[in-house]
Amino acid sequence: MGRYTAAVCRLCRRSGEKLMLKGSRCLTPKCAMDRQGKPPGQQLRRRRRVSDRGLQLREKQKARNTYGMMERQFRQLFAQAERQSGITGENLLVLLERRLDNVIYRLGFADSRSQARQLVQHGHIMLNGRKTDIPSCLVKEGDTINWREGSTKTEYYKQLLQSIESKSVLSWLSLDRQNLVGQVLSLPTSDDIDAKFEGKTIVEYYSR
Ligand code: SF4
Repeated sequence: MGRYTAAVCRLCRRSGEKLMLKGSRCLTPKCAMDRQGKPPGQQLRRRRRVSDRGLQLREKQKARNTYGMMERQFRQLFAQAERQSGITGENLLVLLERRLDNVIYRLGFADSRSQARQLVQHGHIMLNGRKTDIPSCLVKEGDTINWREGSTKTEYYKQLLQSIESKSVLSWLSLDRQNLVGQVLSLPTSDDIDAKFEGKTIVEYYSR
C-alpha cells in the first residue's frame, strides 16, 4: 500500500488545522502551523472562497490524513460504515478509532499514529497473544494488546515504561502500566472521539 511521503506538516497547513501528525513535536514552537499557518504555496495569493464541495473534500482529507490512510483504503472503510446499521458518519468515526495503529497510539505506546503503524509493521505488537503486523486490523471488545517478548528488551520499551505513568488513556481502553498491556473495554462511541472533522460532511462528500 502506497503512503504519503512528502512533508506531513503540509497536510496540516492545507487543512488549516493542527492534525498532530508528528507527536510531541506538534506541541513545540517548531510546529509549522504555529510558525506559518498558511496553506502551502499560497503565501502571496489571495485565498479564494471555498465551495461547499471544496469544504466537504477538505473535511474528508482531514479525516483521512489524521489516520494516515490512502484514499482507496479510506473509501473501503467508508463503504463498511455504510453497510452497518445506524448513522454512517458515526459508524465511520468508530471504525477509524478501532484500527490497531490508532489503538496503539491511544494507549500511549507511540507518540503519533505513524509511529504506531511502524511498531505494528515491525512486529513488536501482539493482539490477543498473536503477533500481528497489520496496522489496519480492527480491534473488538475484550481484545488485549501487548508487546512481543523480544521487544520488551529494547531501549524504546524501557523508556516507555518510565514515561507511560504520565499518560492517560481514554475510557473505552484500559492500560496495565507495569506490564504495558492494553485492553479494549468496549467499542468507542462517537462521544468518546475527539474528532477534528464532521462525519456528516464526509457522508455528503461521498454521496454525490
Ligand atoms: Fe501539523 Fe504537527 Fe507539523 Fe504542527 S508539527 S504542522 S501539528 S504535523
